[in-house]
Amino acid sequence: MNVIELRDVRKSYPLAEAVRGVSLTIGEGEMVAVTGPSGSGKSTLLHLMAALDRPTSGSVVIAGHAVERLPPARLAALRAHGIGMVFQQFFLLDALNVLDNVATGLLYRGIPARRRRRAARAALENVGLGHRLKHRAGTLSGGERQRAAIARALAGEPVILLADEPTGNLDSANGRQIVGLLRRLNTEGTTIVIITHDHDVAASCHRRVELRDGQVAGHAP
Ligand code: ADP
Repeated sequence: MNVIELRDVRKSYPLAEAVRGVSLTIGEGEMVAVTGPSGSGKSTLLHLMAALDRPTSGSVVIAGHAVERLPPARLAALRAHGIGMVFQQFFLLDALNVLDNVATGLLYRGIPARRRRRAARAALENVGLGHRLKHRAGTLSGGERQRAAIARALAGEPVILLADEPTGNLDSANGRQIVGLLRRLNTEGTTIVIITHDHDVAASCHRRVELRDGQVAGHAP
């Protein structure tokens, strides 16, 4: 089954056409890197895959739903239930403890508080942070913060995890740990797309898609 299908997708801004006719399929269980120089359209493409934005033309299908045809409420539900996101800057709430950061991420799914905390705890244990549940996020190391952010993304069991430069703020040892964690999660069944500048991160994915000037310039292998 395909988790994401992009067909001849374009995205224009007033002064730039950021994505210019991209067709791309992400199958269930894949781990795919999207690479390319700055300004090549990677972030725009990730936003389209996350249903955060609608294409100017073409078709974006996520878990069988055509984004361009969904009314706003259905689009919000698809984002909340279907998509887990991880960012270079982590975007944790530093004053909250780790458990509350992850549980709060489930608020929009309409899950009762007790189940939110149970799911958050399980996700944090899965990324090796079971001993840090009550620590404030602001006191964690960078690598631990990114693991907490990955737990937050996965606690709701999304159909896909989209990561935007997940190792961009980490030293190489912590970056390797995060890539190792993502690989394990993928082996256990999570479909993952990673935007990355990092050659080693790209090399550890099954497949690489290179963007240039808003178009797919190459696939590897
Ligand atoms: P990358 O992530 O590869 O650096 P982006 O997707 O951020 O590339 O940007 C691709 C192009 O689209 C750039 O020329 C950028 O200036 C433009 N762009 C991106 N987002 C916007 C926006 N919100 N408004 C206007 N132009 C944008």
